[in-house]
Formats: sequence, C-alpha cells, structure tokens
Amino acid sequence: MMKLGLHLSIKGSIDRVIDRAVERGCNIFQMFSRNPRGWRSRKLELEEVESFKMKLRESGIWPVFIHTPYLLNLASPKEDVYSKSVEALKDELLRTADLGVHYVITHLGSHLGHGKREGLRRIVDAVNNSFSAVENDVILLLENTAGTRNSMGSSFEDIESIAARIEDRKRIGICFDTCHAFAAGYDLVSRGAVEHTLRRFDQIIGLKELKLVHLNDSKGALGSRIDRHEHIGLGKIGERGFKNILKSRLGRLPLILETPVDKRRSDVENLRKVRELAQ
Ligand code: MN
Ligand code: MN
Ligand code: ZN
Repeated sequence: MMKLGLHLSIKGSIDRVIDRAVERGCNIFQMFSRNPRGWRSRKLELEEVESFKMKLRESGIWPVFIHTPYLLNLASPKEDVYSKSVEALKDELLRTADLGVHYVITHLGSHLGHGKREGLRRIVDAVNNSFSAVENDVILLLENTAGTRNSMGSSFEDIESIAARIEDRKRIGICFDTCHAFAAGYDLVSRGAVEHTLRRFDQIIGLKELKLVHLNDSKGALGSRIDRHEHIGLGKIGERGFKNILKSRLGRLPLILETPVDKRRSDVENLRKVRELAQ
C-alpha cells in the first residue's frame, strides 16, 4: 500500500497532529516539533508526549517525520546564527527521540556568499558535532534544495560530498523533494527523464539512502532555481510527470505533500489526485 501523507500542524498540543492525520486519511505525516519561526523551543510536557505516543500507536500511522525549523542555517558564516543552528539541531535530535519518532529532515542552508567550500565545511562540522553530542537512533535526512542563490545541496554531487564527510554515515539519509529537484534541473516529466534522474541519483549518492519523498509540483520551470511549490499536476512537472514519478521507485517510498494552502485545491484533494495518478 502507498505510504502517503501531509505536513500537518501541531497547533493546540502536539498530540492533536495525529487527530488531523486520521481525519485526512494519512497513513504517514510530517510535522514540526515546535514553532518553526522562532529560535526558542517550548519544552515538551510529559503528558503531551505520552498522549502523542499513545495516539500514534492506536492510529497505526508509521513512520512519522519531523522537519527542523526554518531559521536553521547549518552553513551560515555568521557565528551567532551558526551556533544557534547547531544547538537547534541537537535539540531536534533529542525531541524527535523523545516523541518516539525516527526521522528528522533538515535543509542544508545558505553560505550567504562565502562560497560552497566554506558552507560545506560548516554543515559537516555541525552534523558531526550534533551527532557526537546526541547519541540516539534518529536518522537525519538531508533534503535537496532548488538551488536558489547561495543555497547548499541542490546537486546530487554536493549532497554526496556532505554525506561522505559525516563520521557516522548510518545516521544520515536523503529526503528527495520533487519540486526542488526539478527546479535544480533534474527532469521528472517523461518516463525516461525520471529514470535518468534516478540513475544519476543512484550513481552519485545511492538509491538505498532515499528514505522520504517530498511530493510537490513546481511553479518554476526545469532548472529555474525557483523554490515555489504547486498543487500536484497543476505545475511544470504536471500530471504526466507525477504518473511517471509514482510508477518509478520513488512511488514506493513514503510520500509527503507540501503543496500550497489556497482556494484552488485542498490538502485532501491533493491526496486524492495522487491516488488517482498512481492507479
Ligand atoms: Mn523541507
Ligand atoms: Mn521539501
Ligand atoms: Zn521548497
């Protein structure tokens, strides 16, 4: 059966996210463990953690994915932002384990004009430091980016050069965002194009590293380096692209939608569209 879900809100208390997932018919989901726009995280109360774990068991939903806050920049040349980002990453590794979750996803950040080499060094140090400070079973998923100016991790080669320098590579996996890949120049429309993109991924990183797909259409054209998500089938990847993506090996991985919130289509309608295109 297809593993399919949404990015869902934890508004109210953290266990409420599971009610939302069940209401929408998700068998997996993604969430933040905290407010994604602030540096400070509220401590998780024992009661809500217990309630989260209990509801999760009862729901049969598995696995769950936690996304790191937006403010993190693991490649930042600014010392204050960098050290806060490393602390936040450690905190997320701890919170994820406390919630009984196994995966946390992070973006690789921006070098802000200081160059890829320097950015890479900072990310590698950040991850290695966090892993030695927090020893647990949580897998950190590195997400490919659209390649907007100064952003790190848009090419498979760049992601591999980061992953290869992580001392405990078993604790790393990859999250493949279809919108970001397409915007970064990896074609995902025809069947041949999807296969070619996956073959390149396999040669450079290895398909076994793929643990999650962010299934998003793209407002920007192929190679546009524009990070703007679109409803499934309504963007430049289109229905044909998603049919081929879903038929490929990507379709057998956990699929999380991060599609827009607007009046054109609801989350539940996007889920329905994915199921229809997967037929
Ligand atoms: Mn992301
Ligand atoms: Mn994403
Ligand atoms: Zn994006």
